[in-house]
Amino acid sequence: MLFNYNGKFLSTQKHCAAQGNKAMFSISSKMKDLNFNVETQLNVFDTYVKSVLSYGAEIWGFHKGQDVEKVHINFCKKVLGVRKNTCNSAVYYEVGRFPLEIFRKQKIFKYWFKLRNSKNCILKACYEDMVKNNDIWISNIRKELSILGLADLYQSTMKESVILDIIFNRMCDVFKQKVVNDISNASKCILYKHVVDHFCLQVYLKKPIHVKYRKLITRLRLSSHDLKIETGRYENLTRDCRKCESCNLNVIEDEFHFLLICPSLCSLRDKYIKKYYSRKPSVYKVIQLLSTSNTKELCNLGKYLYYANKQRTLHVNYPN
Ligand SMILES: [Zn+2]
Repeated sequence: MLFNYNGKFLSTQKHCAAQGNKAMFSISSKMKDLNFNVETQLNVFDTYVKSVLSYGAEIWGFHKGQDVEKVHINFCKKVLGVRKNTCNSAVYYEVGRFPLEIFRKQKIFKYWFKLRNSKNCILKACYEDMVKNNDIWISNIRKELSILGLADLYQSTMKESVILDIIFNRMCDVFKQKVVNDISNASKCILYKHVVDHFCLQVYLKKPIHVKYRKLITRLRLSSHDLKIETGRYENLTRDCRKCESCNLNVIEDEFHFLLICPSLCSLRDKYIKKYYSRKPSVYKVIQLLSTSNTKELCNLGKYLYYANKQRTLHVNYPN
């Protein structure tokens, strides 16, 4: 573990992040040809990378660890196949994962109990000394408990496992609340907030869908696509000017238009999208389609997106 003369842990977490990044690239290149599903890829990350990223976290874990978290969130984005600028909160929600900060703090609290209950005379003396001098590590434990509204637990005589569960659940609840707030306030998540199920690995990610189709569905759900409603942001176009260039309807090219309206994609729509959705199209039906758990519908949606994107790119690049 890397220590700095100034007693701060910025370089420690940067070092862990650099090591974790190497481990992440190594497992990513090995998993490339293995066609693992999302769940397995995340499990492999937890086994081989999370441990590297959290090395010695009992000591430095109160640091925000931005660089460490970047490795984690970038891996999630890579697995989902979305752009790096995709809303982080939506990514956590999509895969039902918590930031590593929570895992680090869990390790710290476990270690705190280990020190408190230690029979080792050296450890015991050190711990008592830290408490007496109100060491920064101990004061951080107190601070963290009071932020979580659990200050009473510092002196509690409850069973260790019960206290750890209470702390862990509270940290998870606070995070979930933050993510839900972020999603409901983000302009990029207007559609997403209606499409998602509860906080967990979303159902469609567990279905046997070809990876290229699955990634297209994710991109559409998380607004990480190339439709004008999204790319217009980068060109500084106002919302009204982000029109579809594939047809003459002179309307905004958003997910609703692309999936159920655009006349240039009519034949593909007839082939891959159930009549129920396209007969009387509405935003509600887009939400229903994007949140379906029916494997066949999901596969067909993926195929529609694949061919429609191809056709759209041709049309935008060679209009005639
Ligand atoms: Zn159109």
